[in-house]
Amino acid sequence: NAHLPHASHRADFPALANDWAYLDTAATAQKPQAVIDAITRAYGVDYATVHRGVYERSATMTQSFEAVRAKVADFIGAASANEIVFTRGATESINMVAQAFGGMQLKRGDHILLTALEHHSNIVPWQMLRGALGLGIDVAPLTPDGKIDTDALIAMIGPRTKLVSVAHVSNVLGSVADVRRIADAAHAAGAKLLVDGCQAVPRLKVDVAALDCDFYVFSGHKLYGPTGIGVLWARPELLMRMPPTQGGGAMIETVTFEATTYAKPPQRFEAGTPHIVGVIGLGAAIDYVNSIGLDTIAAHEARLVKAARTALAGFERVQLYGPEDSAGIVSFNVAGVHPHDVGTILDETGVAVRAGHHCAQPLMALLGVPATARASFGIYNNASDIERLAIGIARVIKIFG
Ligand code: PMP
Repeated sequence: NAHLPHASHRADFPALANDWAYLDTAATAQKPQAVIDAITRAYGVDYATVHRGVYERSATMTQSFEAVRAKVADFIGAASANEIVFTRGATESINMVAQAFGGMQLKRGDHILLTALEHHSNIVPWQMLRGALGLGIDVAPLTPDGKIDTDALIAMIGPRTKLVSVAHVSNVLGSVADVRRIADAAHAAGAKLLVDGCQAVPRLKVDVAALDCDFYVFSGHKLYGPTGIGVLWARPELLMRMPPTQGGGAMIETVTFEATTYAKPPQRFEAGTPHIVGVIGLGAAIDYVNSIGLDTIAAHEARLVKAARTALAGFERVQLYGPEDSAGIVSFNVAGVHPHDVGTILDETGVAVRAGHHCAQPLMALLGVPATARASFGIYNNASDIERLAIGIARVIKIFG
């Protein structure tokens, strides 16, 4: 496998020191030492609250915290740090949009357009809103190789469609959405576009201005950063109009028992003491990813996907899902073997894959399977991980006759 580079960044990840073949980055990425160190410093010698302290340590922490907001803005091509709202993760970001934008903009009979490959976190919040407001939900189909059928999706955008919400990269199939085309069509019909960037941000250069979407969300923990921290980006004119979804400290301008005025975005959407250390860790993760470069990461993962698909296609009993050019993610099944058994047998040889419905039960129904096994890749994976996956699958087939 000479065409597969040695993953020179593997040594940055303490979790992989024992040569674990970790192929579950789409669930959550392992953390480089630089992120762990940043978290340790933030809880250690640097620790203090943000925004409120009059003492120097708090002022310094506030500066570091707000510097990450600007770093995130740069990272995704946002025009200003004020367009970045820190959340608990993509799930909370989508729920916030559903509540805030839904409450302000949507009325009975309006429609939301999703796709057949969405993660539950881009389905259920809209269903909850449907119940409360009387909305319609439409679902765009996929092409036979598991990409969003963009032509069909565009044809489904109607006069009642107020919001289109799609995954930039599918967490099951790795298929990459043609976001710009969808944005143009949505806008031509007066609809907004939300993009779930969970699986895109760790492996593709994202530029919200070029994508021309209206909302973009992602989670820090899939980007080599900590859990419990995520991002909601929205166009400033939308953020300015959106009502807060939680009340409390830090999101207000003035409070009396008669009336309260709210702070400007992004503070309006960040009630309470924020996840200070999570934000600092996210900043370190972005620095780490930038130090390697997303082009390098994308090229590395493309080679890993190609090698994995080639190796798995060599087994007659293996069914592969998703397009040839999937981004960092390969789902598959071994005929006659439940994916949980595939995962368990692989684990015996130190190969970690995900097995299940991947929080995409409607997509499993469409594929006609209860579950799949999924190998997903990151900066640290190498040719040996793929070889061990292939050896493991051979063993699965042997055990199951
Ligand atoms: N969307 C996609 C495409 C995902 O892969 C995930 C995580 N599996 C989510 C949303 C939800 O992210 P989180 O659980 O970090 O909020």
